[in-house]
Amino acid sequence: MNQEYLRNVNKPFDHEIVAKLKQQAKVDQIPIMTDEGIHFLIQLIKIHNAKKVLEIGTAIGYSSILMALFTNAEVTSIERNETLFKQANSNIEFANQSNKIRLLLGDANDVIIDDDDYDIIFIDAAKSSYIRFFEKFSKNLKTGGLIVSDNLLFRGMVAHPEDIESRNRKQLVKKINHYNEFIVNHPDFDSYIYDIGDGLSISIKK
Ligand code: SAH
Ligand code: MG
Repeated sequence: MNQEYLRNVNKPFDHEIVAKLKQQAKVDQIPIMTDEGIHFLIQLIKIHNAKKVLEIGTAIGYSSILMALFTNAEVTSIERNETLFKQANSNIEFANQSNKIRLLLGDANDVIIDDDDYDIIFIDAAKSSYIRFFEKFSKNLKTGGLIVSDNLLFRGMVAHPEDIESRNRKQLVKKINHYNEFIVNHPDFDSYIYDIGDGLSISIKK
């Protein structure tokens, strides 16, 4: 009920590129952020006055392009799928955001990032690797910086694993739950998980 009301009262980004990218994601069945999720992330970037964002998981470039269009941040984004990487590159050119977004092709487990002054790291890739990504990229984050993670509620399945039939799905959901416990218990971060979008967390580096 609340959700339907908010969908009507809130104003999603009104931009032809946003509509085009959403359509493309729908046709290709790419799991991009929800309106609520992307708005939350963009508000965070603005509140935090973030200048440098590192994203793990570009897909077609939807979230990268929106961050670039609607904030002052520069975005570095990692994608391992070459077809999606190319699609994202052409979308970024089309959106005229090549000056604000740098795409890296490769598995985030292998890609080396040298800079240690990122303001925000946004993890939105293979859920089974979240702990590794968190540990690996923490060193690229400033003190006081944020790690934001997506899909921590995975369409309700994390709260209700008993309803899941598939063994693989059950395993994956177990891993997400493990990650959730990992971040809230991490001594070097203050973390909280929210029922926003598909489940988003903010972890603040102490
Ligand atoms: N952030 C995007 C959606 C990303 S979907 C948006 O909201 O617009 C997740 C993407 O992460 C997929 O494109 C997938 O290919 C990529 N991915 C998954 N595991 C990865 C890894 N280990 N390294 C790099 N990219 C990965
Ligand atoms: Mg996601």
